Amino acid sequence: MGEYFQTIRLISPPFYGRLRGVMIKILLPLILFMANLQATQTQVVILLGPPGAGKGSAATLLKDKMELAHISTGDLLRQNIKNGTQLGEKAKSYMDAGDLVPDELIFSMLFERVDAPDCEKGYLLDGFPRTIEQAETLQKRLAGRAQVKAVSLEVPDSALVERITKRQVCRDCQTPYHLTFSPPKTKGKCDRCPGELYQRSDDTETVVKSRLKIYHEKTAPLIDYYREQKALQTVDASLPPNEVLSQITALLTPVVKDKVGAGDVH
Ligand code: AMP
Repeated sequence: MGEYFQTIRLISPPFYGRLRGVMIKILLPLILFMANLQATQTQVVILLGPPGAGKGSAATLLKDKMELAHISTGDLLRQNIKNGTQLGEKAKSYMDAGDLVPDELIFSMLFERVDAPDCEKGYLLDGFPRTIEQAETLQKRLAGRAQVKAVSLEVPDSALVERITKRQVCRDCQTPYHLTFSPPKTKGKCDRCPGELYQRSDDTETVVKSRLKIYHEKTAPLIDYYREQKALQTVDASLPPNEVLSQITALLTPVVKDKVGAGDVH
């Protein structure tokens, strides 16, 4: 590039002078503006993967390491059920059957949450989008104002049923545990808070099979959707949780602010 400018300078000094002026007055501020825009854009990280792939575990650890808020649509729905809201009442039967909750309930709940001040810099979505339609609605809402990265956690189906049926979750902070691979220090009690552990009503073998079927039909196409947008990264989530976390962290750098070590994995 420098050689071209030198050649222009030799051939036509007045033209070189004008070109230099244009560069300084227009292009340089434009480049600085674009760089600044990139730096201040909201970061949206989407964790994709079948039920049991470890999205919740990864998000629980990542939220400690990141400047991004963690938003799980499943947790928001369960919170609504626990609080006895109208939304919770409407969503419960779908969730108990392992079906997707209708979009109109999901969108109002999610978009209200992402308007909260802690989402200003960005957020990590766990459990949303679940369909191409949800992804398109999100894209329209973001309208190019956010930098979106999707991370697909890949685990063979054969490992998932065992992972889910042995899962327990904290009633208060939603930290997930696995009774064999990452049990709590005290049976039935959360390591992170005084909360009690319980098994989700949709974590039974029959419901899990129906959730997996829905995942393959409706959610898995999102992998190609984000790949086509050049926004997809994949992670081998059948590895031990520490390794999965390191892979995700490496992919998300520099989004990740490395505040703590990757030691306390569940
Ligand atoms: P999860 O905690 O992500 O496994 O979600 C638990 C259940 O909540 C799912 O099986 C669905 O019934 C419902 N759900 C969570 N997120 C969504 C979503 N984005 N769209 C529709 N239903 C959802």
